[in-house]
Amino acid sequence: MSDLILISGGRLMDPGQGLDGVRDILVGKGRVLWIGHAPPPQEPDKVLQGQGLVVSPGFVDLHCHLRVPGQEDKETMASGTLAACRGGFTTVCAMPNTRPPVDTPPLIEFLKDKASREGLVRVLPVGALTRGRVGKELVEMEAMARAGAVAFSDDGHPTGSRIMRQALEFSRYLGLPVMDHCEDPELAREGLVNEGVVSLRLGLRGMPSQAEEAAVARDVAVAGLTGGHVHIHHVSSQGSLEHIRRGKEKGVKVTCEATPHHLTLTDDRLLAPIPYDTNLKVNPPLRSERERKALAEALREGLIDAVATDHAPHALVDKLVEFSRAGPGMSNLETALGSLMALVHRGELDLLTLVARLTIGPARILGKELGSLKVGWPADVVIFDPDREWTVDPQALASRGKNTPLGGEKLKGRVMATLVGGKAAYLDPSLKLEVPESRKAKI
Ligand SMILES: [Zn+2]
Ligand SMILES: [Zn+2]
Repeated sequence: MSDLILISGGRLMDPGQGLDGVRDILVGKGRVLWIGHAPPPQEPDKVLQGQGLVVSPGFVDLHCHLRVPGQEDKETMASGTLAACRGGFTTVCAMPNTRPPVDTPPLIEFLKDKASREGLVRVLPVGALTRGRVGKELVEMEAMARAGAVAFSDDGHPTGSRIMRQALEFSRYLGLPVMDHCEDPELAREGLVNEGVVSLRLGLRGMPSQAEEAAVARDVAVAGLTGGHVHIHHVSSQGSLEHIRRGKEKGVKVTCEATPHHLTLTDDRLLAPIPYDTNLKVNPPLRSERERKALAEALREGLIDAVATDHAPHALVDKLVEFSRAGPGMSNLETALGSLMALVHRGELDLLTLVARLTIGPARILGKELGSLKVGWPADVVIFDPDREWTVDPQALASRGKNTPLGGEKLKGRVMATLVGGKAAYLDPSLKLEVPESRKAKI
């Protein structure tokens, strides 16, 4: 029997049902049972005081690298999902670029099984798009969908036009998105950082934003041709947004995500305070302030449907090398909310919109009953303090990936509690699940 938990007095923000105000919420049996003003219809077993805190649906991450199977030196199911919990994410989509790549139904089953035994949050497997992720032959999309794949992606590798067309034909039939890491390889020419003043000053090979834009334009065109749903991973440039806007206006099924780092950091950071900091090496690369601003505006407007972390944990040896040899990616799950709150604190984004892009936005792309606290839906809840300041200590991260460029930085906004399926999966030491007075009297 699971406890009935009442979260009382918090500011309930649920953009999925247009809620923003002080409400109490009762959860139990894994579901949301009631939302309103106390007293609740049933007596709770435990109470969590939410005064001064925001209570929102748990965050849904469309793009996360759990490194399972095969790269447990970088992350494990336990460490990755604990990091998700601490970051307020109750659902994460696991990317398939693992060893071996998740490109068959049994591997999807394996991941689901592992997640159900060792995971602290919901883990939804994204299947590879092509066998072995080498871009030649489509996986058996239908069989993988039946096994539980929620989408398909060869993330890390650009997708060829022929494969994209075939995949989007199936996407239309299966009703699942095909996700693409957009990069024209010949324009990207293995660039290490954004092509611009910073790449020139550092003497590092640049990757122009047009390498991404050309691929986005192609994807929008092919989605229009086939009627399939294409989802663009980690959009980083204004030009890409223009193609996505035109596609959306024409009714093409195109959605997209942006990462916390592309929304908050720029390539200037490669110059100082730590020049050539390999923790800033990401793909696509961090762009200019002009591009960052365009992303923040598109997120506000809803042209960008979701924030996705692209959490990419690495072992120390992957990052303590020359810039050109370092693995791309940041450990992001635990710093995502704190980073993104900077946009809210400086007035670039309102809080309700940010919550929407972390909850109902990504959930709609998956087409699942997640990302909102509707009565009867899964009780996945995050409670956060939008004003609490904390300093990032990479060594204190639950993720095995300590590769964050934010070490020592002060963030304002912190997750205090995370409930997955009505159970407290993470609680800040300052919060307690209390037995209500009425219950105590009976004992
Ligand atoms: Zn990628
Ligand atoms: Zn990725």
